[in-house]
Amino acid sequence: MCQNSFGSQELARGKFIAGVVSFTAAVFFLARPVFTMLRSGREMFAAALLLGLCATANADDVLFENVRIFDGKGAALSEPSNVLVRGNVIAEISTSPIEAEGAERIAGDGRTLIPGLIDAHWHAMLAAASPAEVMGDVSFASILAGEEATDTLMRGFTTVRDVGGPAFGLKRAIDQGIIPGPRIYPSGAMITVTSGHGDFRQFTDLPRRVGGPLTPMETSGGAMVVDSPDEVRLRAREQLMQGAVLIKLTAGGGVSSPFSPLDVTTFTEAELRAAVEIAENWGTYVAAHAFTTDATRKAIAAGVKCIEHGFLMDEATARLIAEKGIWLSLQPLPELMRTGLREGSVERAKAEEVWPGIGRTYELAKKYKIKTAWGTDVLFSRALARQQGAILASLTRWYTPAEALVMATGTNAELLALSGQRNPYPGKLGVVEEGALADLLLVEGNPLENMDLVADPGNNFKIIMKDGLIYKNTLAK
Ligand SMILES: [Zn+2]
Repeated sequence: MCQNSFGSQELARGKFIAGVVSFTAAVFFLARPVFTMLRSGREMFAAALLLGLCATANADDVLFENVRIFDGKGAALSEPSNVLVRGNVIAEISTSPIEAEGAERIAGDGRTLIPGLIDAHWHAMLAAASPAEVMGDVSFASILAGEEATDTLMRGFTTVRDVGGPAFGLKRAIDQGIIPGPRIYPSGAMITVTSGHGDFRQFTDLPRRVGGPLTPMETSGGAMVVDSPDEVRLRAREQLMQGAVLIKLTAGGGVSSPFSPLDVTTFTEAELRAAVEIAENWGTYVAAHAFTTDATRKAIAAGVKCIEHGFLMDEATARLIAEKGIWLSLQPLPELMRTGLREGSVERAKAEEVWPGIGRTYELAKKYKIKTAWGTDVLFSRALARQQGAILASLTRWYTPAEALVMATGTNAELLALSGQRNPYPGKLGVVEEGALADLLLVEGNPLENMDLVADPGNNFKIIMKDGLIYKNTLAK
């Protein structure tokens, strides 16, 4: 089962033991339920990888038989088909029988095979932990985020675009097979200005001496405060050095941060341009949080390639986004996110202003055929994180199930590809086609007819495969 030698197993164990003790304990704690869930030898292989016992991933072939494919692009299911996964790639798709001696055979029995889901606006380190936990105890927040990453994968989300938070170590642990979780496209710290969205400092942190020491918010890697183009360059380059595959900044006010009124435009155009120049020097792009017309237009003028939210922009700006081929990353923010904010609080008042813009912006995106990505933006709430699939299903307020699923797979993957040479997972994601990376879900039922199936992944996603490895298989053997 394990292809590596005893020596490298020992090496893997050695590295493991040399790790932080509490983190190691957490890894075993997290991996235990996964072991109980996994059944076949192949899944045990995956589990061995998770525990660091196998250093190589020479997985066996897997043959899905008699499945109907939603390919992440079109609106129809395929004829009953067979899909061969070899290593981490979809090797062959055919309506005729596929010869695959020795492959693990999965009887699809007419179930639906779809690409792994992609959340284009996620915060892996902030979905479950509070800002205070991230700033106050990064190791605790990391363990929470590790557990949440496993849950994220078990909801069928095989990839997330992480637009703010110190997710580099989490990504490394997932990529090395230490814990199960999604592929992560990280931006690293949100870059903000003094009092901008993402500035969670307190008045006691002021006044800040230029060049003075950083606050816990910044040393945790959650957000970096910049107030000049030079500081933008410094902090953007620091994120890229750590593995950022895009740069995220906050061009205007936001709901969850206390000192950023919604109407303000936070960055100057020179500061925005500095970020764009640095990102483009690295072959990647800037995504900007912006609600208002002014913040959105300034970001576009500076060369930002993706606007996050845009819920308060006017119709002319939506038209401009479409004309320029800019991406609009939208989120059907659930009511629970709004009502979870304390009544009478500044944050709640801002939410009341933003929420009516959500439906209006989706309508504009449809009207002007804007390149639209889908995400959730869950922050600081495990209860909301559990609704990730339900938030996707809620897109049927504006889209057919097929349109919504294309958005959360093939279309979101096109946005991921904007990271260019910084793409940490070269290969095609979000589609079921020969040569694409094997991130696949086997669904009980047809989500193109019943989108609610994705809201209950525990029952309806029978198999979850990421990178050719099966992480969940509840089909009877
Ligand atoms: Zn966000």
